[in-house]
Amino acid sequence: MREEKRVFLNCTMVDVTADCALRHGIDVFTEGDRIVRIAPTGGDTDGYELYDASGLFVMPGLVNAHAHLFGTGMPSKVISGGGAQKLVLKLVRSALGLKVLKMLVSSACKQELNSGVTTLRGLGDFRFSDILVRDRIRKGRGAAAGLDLVVSGPAITAPGGHGDGTFALTASKPEEFAALVEQNVSNGADLIKICITGGVTDSKKKGEPGEVKMTEEQVKAACDRAHALGKRVAAHIQSPLGVSIAAKCGVDTIEHGASFGEEEAALLKARGGAVVATYTPAYPYYKLPAEVTKLDDVRIYNSGVVLDGMTAAVKDAYAHGITVAMGTDASCPFSTQYGMWREVIYFAKLGGFGTKAALKAATLGGATALGLQDETGSLEVGKRADMIFLKDDPVSRPETLREPLTVVAGGRVIARPKVKRNKKIERVLDGLMEGL
Ligand SMILES: [Zn+2]
Repeated sequence: MREEKRVFLNCTMVDVTADCALRHGIDVFTEGDRIVRIAPTGGDTDGYELYDASGLFVMPGLVNAHAHLFGTGMPSKVISGGGAQKLVLKLVRSALGLKVLKMLVSSACKQELNSGVTTLRGLGDFRFSDILVRDRIRKGRGAAAGLDLVVSGPAITAPGGHGDGTFALTASKPEEFAALVEQNVSNGADLIKICITGGVTDSKKKGEPGEVKMTEEQVKAACDRAHALGKRVAAHIQSPLGVSIAAKCGVDTIEHGASFGEEEAALLKARGGAVVATYTPAYPYYKLPAEVTKLDDVRIYNSGVVLDGMTAAVKDAYAHGITVAMGTDASCPFSTQYGMWREVIYFAKLGGFGTKAALKAATLGGATALGLQDETGSLEVGKRADMIFLKDDPVSRPETLREPLTVVAGGRVIARPKVKRNKKIERVLDGLMEGL
C-alpha cells in the first residue's frame, strides 16, 4: 500500500488527554494510517498533500463501545416476541438470511463511520455476520474501509436469559459456556459477550432487567476460557448483584451497569476493567409515550431501572478511577447507526457528567475499554489517524458532532460523509432532546 502523506492545516485541536483543552493553530501530519507529527501551523509541509482545515475543530474519531449491527433503530413489535418475531428469526436463519444480515451489517458500518465513529465494538450479532463483515473491512474493502471493527460474534446467555432464543447462543452447564466461548473465538471473535442479567426488551415483569440469569460458576467458566484464549469479556448487567458476580468471576467490561461497592471496584480496577454506559435506547423507552415506543408498562418501568443503574455505575466508576466508555446499543429501537452524537449529549446532560467527560468517554475512554489506548482515542503521534473535523467547538456545542465535515479513519479521508437518516425517528428524538 502506498503511504499517503497528508497534512491538515491550521485547525483547532480538542485535546481529550488534557480535559478537552482547545489548541489553536495546529497542523496534523499523517502518513498512511498513522499520525506522525502535530505542530504549530506554519512549519515545513514539503512532500505532504495539503488539506486546509482553517476554522475547523479536530478531535479523535468516536469510539462506539457497544453496538449491534443488524438493525436500523426503527421501533418494532418484533422485539417483544410473538408471531412477527418468529417469522423474522426464521428468515434470519435461512440461507437468504445470511446474505441479508451481511448487507445490513455492512450498511450499519458505513453509517457509523460516516457519522464519525472510527472504532466500533459489536456486542452481539447473528450468525457471525459481524465477523464476516469485519474481515472484509480489514482487507480495506467496501464503503466502511478504515473503520476499526471489534466484534464478539453472537452473545452467550443462559436459558431464559437476555437474548435466549434470539440474538444469543444459550448454554447451561459451565463446560457448555466454555465450549461456546471456544467456538466463538475459533470463528474469529475478538472478544466474548455474555448476558448475566435480564434485559429490557425481553423482560416480562417489573424489575426483571436486573434479575440474575447466570450463576457464578457459569460466568467464571466463560471468563476463564476467554482469558485463557487471550480474549476479554463484556457482560450485559443491569443490577448491583449482577455487577458483583461479574467483578468476582472475571468480567472485563460492565455493559449498561448498576451501582457497585469498594470490593467490586478493586477487582475491576485490578484487571483494567471498564463501565460502558448506553443511554440511547433506555431514555426514549422511558420518556416517549407508549403509542410511539410500542412498549408495554413493564418494559417502560424497566427502562427507568436501567437508566438509574447506568448513571450510578458511571458515578462509582469515576469515584474509583475506573475507565468509563459509552455506546449507543445501536439496533435497539430508537438507536440508529448514526446516533453516537446523541449518546454524548445524553451522557453529558442526562447522566449529569458534563460535555468534557462525555467527549473523553466517547474517545479515549472507549479506546481504553477496548484495550486500544495505544492505538486510538486521542490525537497523538504514533496513533492511528482517526479524526473528525467539525464546524463548531464540540465542548460548547456538542450538537456539532451530528454532522462531521470530514472523517479520517485509519488514514482514509472521507470528505463530506453522507448519512441516510430516518426523518421520522430523528423528529421524535430531536423533540426528546429539547426537553433535556
Ligand atoms: Zn446491547
